[in-house]
This record gives sequence, structure tokens and C-alpha cells, in this order.
Amino acid sequence: MSITIDREKCTSCGKCREVCPGSLLYAAQDGKTEIRYPKDCWGCTSCVKECRFTAIKYYLGPDIGGKGGFLRTKQEENLLHWIITGPEGEEKVITVDKSKANAY
Ligand code: SF4
Ligand code: SF4
Repeated sequence: MSITIDREKCTSCGKCREVCPGSLLYAAQDGKTEIRYPKDCWGCTSCVKECRFTAIKYYLGPDIGGKGGFLRTKQEENLLHWIITGPEGEEKVITVDKSKANAY
């Protein structure tokens, strides 16, 4: 269970580093975020939700019943889009209105 960070997309904003409950994320010398111990990531997805640049991907591996796809998010004002890409590249999007989070 872990995440990967796309260095090309990372803008060094640091938002993900503020929310990781395990303090696993840190700024490399160039300011881009990296993960210290990928094996220690327990997949809470806080960093995935926080990244507004789709730079963080959450791997959907067999340990959580996945088939090797990945998950990322995109934000649009109050809307949070969960983008799930399957192992063959097929895409599914689930949209949540964050202002109505208690309704889910
Ligand atoms: S939130 Fe995204 S863009 Fe910002 S530092 Fe983290 S990975 Fe980079
Ligand atoms: S998924 Fe959770 S535990 Fe893993 S790096 Fe992101 S914030 Fe930290």
C-alpha cells in the first residue's frame, strides 16, 4: 500500500507534507516532495486529497483487493473528483461535493 509522487507535476506547494499523519513526506533539496519509507504508508489518502496538481497517485495493489490500477484526485471549488485508472488504462470518476460531506 503506497503512493507515488510525479516530480514533473509537483509544484513544491507542501500541502501534502502538512497532512501526512505519519510524517512520511518531506521536501527534497529541490523542494519537491518525496516519501521517506513507502512501506510505512498505510494508505489514508490524506495527501492524495490535498494535492491540487494530481501529482500523487495511490496504488491499488492486491493488498487492498486492487488489480494494479491507481487513484488520484482533482479539485474544482467544492467538488472533489476521485479518478480511478484501471490496469488497462480505463478511467472512472466519482465526484463528491465537499460542502455536503456529512451527507455521504
Ligand atoms: S501537494 Fe502535490 S504539488 Fe504540493 S508538494 Fe505535495 S505532491 Fe507536490
Ligand atoms: S497516504 Fe496517508 S500515510 Fe501514506 S503518505 Fe499519504 S498521507 Fe502519509
